[in-house]
Amino acid sequence: MSYQERYAASMMNTFGPPNAVLTRGSGARVWDDAGREYLDLLGGIAVNALGHAHPAIVEAVTTQLQTLGHVSNFFATAPQVELAERLVALLGTPGKVFLSNSGAEANEAALKLTRRTGRTQVVAATGSFHGRTMGALSLTSKEAYRLPFEPLPGDVTFVPYGDAAALAEAVTQRTAAVVLEPIQGEAGVVVPPDGYLAAARDLTIRAGALLWLDEVQTGIGRTGRWFAHHAVPELLDAAPDLVTLAKGLGGGIPIGATIATGAAADLLEPGNHGSTYGGNPVACAAALAVLDTIAAEGLLDQVARTGKRLADAVAEAPEVAAVRGAGLMIGADLHADLGPAVVEAGREAGFILNSTGPRTLRFVPPLVLSDADVDAFAQAWPGILAAAGAPR
Ligand SMILES: *Cc1c(COP(=O)(O)O)cnc(C)c1O
Repeated sequence: MSYQERYAASMMNTFGPPNAVLTRGSGARVWDDAGREYLDLLGGIAVNALGHAHPAIVEAVTTQLQTLGHVSNFFATAPQVELAERLVALLGTPGKVFLSNSGAEANEAALKLTRRTGRTQVVAATGSFHGRTMGALSLTSKEAYRLPFEPLPGDVTFVPYGDAAALAEAVTQRTAAVVLEPIQGEAGVVVPPDGYLAAARDLTIRAGALLWLDEVQTGIGRTGRWFAHHAVPELLDAAPDLVTLAKGLGGGIPIGATIATGAAADLLEPGNHGSTYGGNPVACAAALAVLDTIAAEGLLDQVARTGKRLADAVAEAPEVAAVRGAGLMIGADLHADLGPAVVEAGREAGFILNSTGPRTLRFVPPLVLSDADVDAFAQAWPGILAAAGAPR
C-alpha cells in the first residue's frame, strides 16, 4: 500500500487527500517519494521561514535537545527567557510574553486575557482566520469552519475588514478587544486600506479596549519587517496591546507566542492559563535561531527585494488580474476560476503553489528564497498557466 492509501486508512480525514508524499527538503526545495524536486513557494504555509533543514535550526535544536529537552512550568530555562526578551525588544515596546505551541493557542491565550479586562465583547473581521480551537474559531469568520461547531464562545461581533467606519460603530465602552490580522492571510492576502490599522488603534484607545493584532502569518520577517504592523507609523507610537505569533517563529518547530504590552501584560495572573509544552527549550532554541539568522543574513531587506521580484513575475502574466501583498506574502487574483488547476499544473512543473479560493493564489515561500529561485519560477509561470487551461 502507498503512503497515500495508508494515510487515508489511518489519519482522520480533516484535510482531504494529500497532494504528494514528501521525504526531504533543503533550502527552498523539497523532494517527494518518487525523487521529484519542487521549489516550495508555500513554505509549509508561511512556516519554513529559513527553508528546509537550515543548519542554524538543526544545530540549535540538536544542541538544546542534547543539553535539556523539556522541563515544566515549575522551572525556567535560558532559551525561554531569552526568547521572551528578544520578542519584546523586536516589538519595540515594553511587554511580557506567554509561550505556547501554535497559532491557535497563541490566540486562545490572548482571548482569555481579554476576558480579564472585565469586558467580554471582541470585535473581529469578516474574512479573518485565527485558528481552529473553539476560542480561536469563535473569532474566525468563515461559516463553513464555524457552523458545525456552534455554539462557540460568544460575544464576538464581526465587521467588514478594512472598513474603519464599521469598526467605529462596533467598538464601544463594552468592547474588550478588537482582533485583526494586519494583512489577512487565509482570506487570500487581503491588504487593508491605508489608515485602517491606525484608525483601529485610535478607536480602541478611546473606548478603553485592547488592540490585538494576529501576526501569526504576517510576523517574523514575512512582510520584510519583524512585524507587519511596523509599517504603520501610528503603531510605532502606540503599540498594539496584544500581538500573537506562531508560523514563521519556529521555522518549522511548533511554537506560539502571545505578547502583551503596557497594562495588558499583567492581566493574566497565576492560575489563569498554562501549557505543559509552552516555552519548551527546544522550540525556544529553534525560534532564537530563526531570529538570529534573519538578522545575521539580512533577510528582512532580502525579503523586500525578492518579494517585489516575485510579485512582478506573477503579475507579468496576462492571466493575472491583480497582485497584492507585502514582502514574501503575495496574493494574486486570476481572471478565471483556475486556482486549484494552477496549483496542480504547478506541481507537475515542479513548484509547490497554493490557492486560497477559486481564483486566488497565495505565495508565502521561505524567506531565504533567492533571486535565482524567483527567476526559475518566472520562466515556468506562463507554461503553468497554459497547462492549467487559462484562456489568454
Ligand atoms: C495559521 C493562522 C492561525 C492558526 O495557527 P495554527 O498554528 O494553525 O493554530 C491563526 N492566525 C493566523 C493569522 C493564521 O494565519
